[in-house]
Amino acid sequence: MPHPSAALALRVALPLPLPREFDYLPGSAGPPAPDWIGRRVRVPFGRGEQVGVISALVPVDEAGLELKAISGLLDPQPLLEGELLESLRWVARYYHAPLGEVIATCLPTALRAGQALPETCTYAQMLTPDGLEAAAKLRRGSNTRRLAEVLQSGPVEEDRLDQMFESWRTAARALAARGLVERVALPTAMEQAADDAAPILTDAQAEALATLREGTGFRACLIEGVTGSGKTELYLQAIRDCLAAGKQALVLVPEIGLTPQTLSRFRARLGLPVHAMHSGLADGARARAWAAMWRGEARVLVGTRSAVFAPLPEAGLIVVDEEHDGSYKQQDGIRYHARDLALVRGKALGIPVLLGSATPSLESLHNAMAGRYAHVRLNQRAGKARPPQVRVLDVRKRPLTHGLSKELLDGIARCLERGEQALVFKNRRGYAPVLLCHDCGWSAHCRRCSTPMQAQAMTLHGAAHGRASVATGRTAGAIGGRTLICHHCGARAARPPSCPDCASLALQPQGFGTERLEEALAARFPQAALIRVDRETTRRRDALQKHLQELGDASGILVGTQMLAKGHDLPRLTLVGVVGVDEGLYSADFRAGEKLAQLLIQVAGRAGRAELPGEVLLQTHHPDHPLLATLLVGGYPALAASELAQREAAGFPPYAHLALLRAEAPNEGDVQLFLREAKTVLEPLSRRERGRGEGSNDIEIHGPMAAPMARRAGRARGQLMLSSPQRPALQAALAGWVPALYELKSARKVRWSIDVDPIDLY
Ligand code: ADP
Ligand code: ZN
Ligand code: ZN
Repeated sequence: MPHPSAALALRVALPLPLPREFDYLPGSAGPPAPDWIGRRVRVPFGRGEQVGVISALVPVDEAGLELKAISGLLDPQPLLEGELLESLRWVARYYHAPLGEVIATCLPTALRAGQALPETCTYAQMLTPDGLEAAAKLRRGSNTRRLAEVLQSGPVEEDRLDQMFESWRTAARALAARGLVERVALPTAMEQAADDAAPILTDAQAEALATLREGTGFRACLIEGVTGSGKTELYLQAIRDCLAAGKQALVLVPEIGLTPQTLSRFRARLGLPVHAMHSGLADGARARAWAAMWRGEARVLVGTRSAVFAPLPEAGLIVVDEEHDGSYKQQDGIRYHARDLALVRGKALGIPVLLGSATPSLESLHNAMAGRYAHVRLNQRAGKARPPQVRVLDVRKRPLTHGLSKELLDGIARCLERGEQALVFKNRRGYAPVLLCHDCGWSAHCRRCSTPMQAQAMTLHGAAHGRASVATGRTAGAIGGRTLICHHCGARAARPPSCPDCASLALQPQGFGTERLEEALAARFPQAALIRVDRETTRRRDALQKHLQELGDASGILVGTQMLAKGHDLPRLTLVGVVGVDEGLYSADFRAGEKLAQLLIQVAGRAGRAELPGEVLLQTHHPDHPLLATLLVGGYPALAASELAQREAAGFPPYAHLALLRAEAPNEGDVQLFLREAKTVLEPLSRRERGRGEGSNDIEIHGPMAAPMARRAGRARGQLMLSSPQRPALQAALAGWVPALYELKSARKVRWSIDVDPIDLY
């Protein structure tokens, strides 16, 4: 029997890897109204329940399907609406992902699980009148005294206390028990005394700011400025404009760029609470920051990749700092690019989007050159800092001590004598990248990641858990490495006492990782404070900050990976030694040149940020390599121009658009079969697209082929690459293709995923 025409069912997006949504009856919560769209519901699914979001209201299916009723409507009003919901639909369409999964990626865990939108008033600690009196009598140097001193001039938000010192909660409890401190709730939008330390803008900055202020509505502006040229200062000015207009600002920073230093700089200058959102936050805190944006209470949010999904009901500005940074691209699940999404949202919201970098991505430069983005350049460092001197150390035929040249070691010695800090950069953690038998040639490789054609070496590490060594605490690296770790899959093995093949004892570590450099530097400079910074020594989020605080302004050596490349201000750092660029110079990845140049410039930018002049020593066996030559003579702009020309000639992004179908399975045959079938489905679709345009709608299909890493963690990996000069043609083909992939029988035996605009092909 047909249902009355008025009866509506709820179409619900569920967080499931299926290319469809599911319909439910409203049950006792009904009848549904249009403003149900965007609210969360709990629904029966299979044997359990799921939380989803209503994406549409549809006439109850007349096919006679037995629809189930929802078990509960969770929100009194839409959680996702307007621009945010539309942008999520865009993500689903563009990245060819189920809307339910996109929503699950966007929402903080607590909200995804169905919890109510949390309370968002901010709590602060303040001294009671008794506390004000007693403060001076607390024991000097104690945590309670420290807290009381911090609170002297008025209430301080707990978020800020978290940034200042870790143990404040214990101190606060002790003081509260004596009636000296109390907790007060503040409305989030509390004004604080704004710090008027804004510097007078340089001419270049003033001109750039004028450009930013031009126009209304959506516009994108690329700020290309060397490290220290005052980009952050410009963001701050633009954010102040935005706040003055009563609007919210969103600032995206790369994962390793979001430091307490960044936050405190923003907080000090904006005179408003600045909310933070990053992967180190507890679920509750994340949900609170999201909710505060949703309610419009939070006016400024600084966050990493996923903060791009924050609600912006009163949007005024989006800033993407270090826009070229690879951490903006999500590398599993929904593979969105936060910078690209920031632009999509900016357009939908009709607000300006600022992209800043010392080394813009070639994509953004290309857009700027095509006139789609305004392009402002800041060529000089602001303030007193001067650009560092870069010198190439040709180490061919020169003796190296543990991989370090004499000039570099002498440079470090002089730097330490001056009482300054030196940084030795090597983008490889561990003790040595290879453990080799000198007698038979055996080397340690990962069984789960190697194929007969392609061995993946295991890296030798000093200790099971590395730790930073400040001044005296050396790591166990002194014994030359104990553990073998595969950097691809995480597999571990003990270092064999002798060669497994020939029983020789001549097992030798080959090459240098940060641990080995640390050991070598410790032996050479036994008196110097030495800090190693890599993934091992900074497992805890605040570890890096702590090590750097311990070093303070004292003279010393930092040795580390790209974690040292940005974020922290190190005013005493005057020498940067770059070791091992050579490994990056010859890579098959078409982005390798761009990435290496960005990294080099970023690292070099750490030298001489304050009054002290900086020096960069680049140690290489290939001083004449075109990449280095171009970079040294013409700087990043010249390198970018040459890379762009090569990309155009080879038909790579930004001149072509790519999509990658990846598949992996224990059995290589399953991967091949799936990819072949997928290709068969794709071919007619790509021909159809070609028929539509005039030649330029071509979609090229490359593969099936093994992934550059053909095996990882015991799984065979393969891929199919699509490329087209026309984005719409590629998108149209994908739209027809991806739903069909779910239907393939061979898809059940593999794990597959689609990566639109992949940034690396691994
Ligand atoms: P970037 O973000 O490009 O690395 P910053 O905005 O952090 O540059 O500026 C680098 C340093 O120069 C900071 O210490 C900043 O306070 C200072 N600075 C920026 N603009 C000016 C200015 N106009 N006058 C004086 N100092 C400035
Ligand atoms: Zn051997
Ligand atoms: Zn492995």
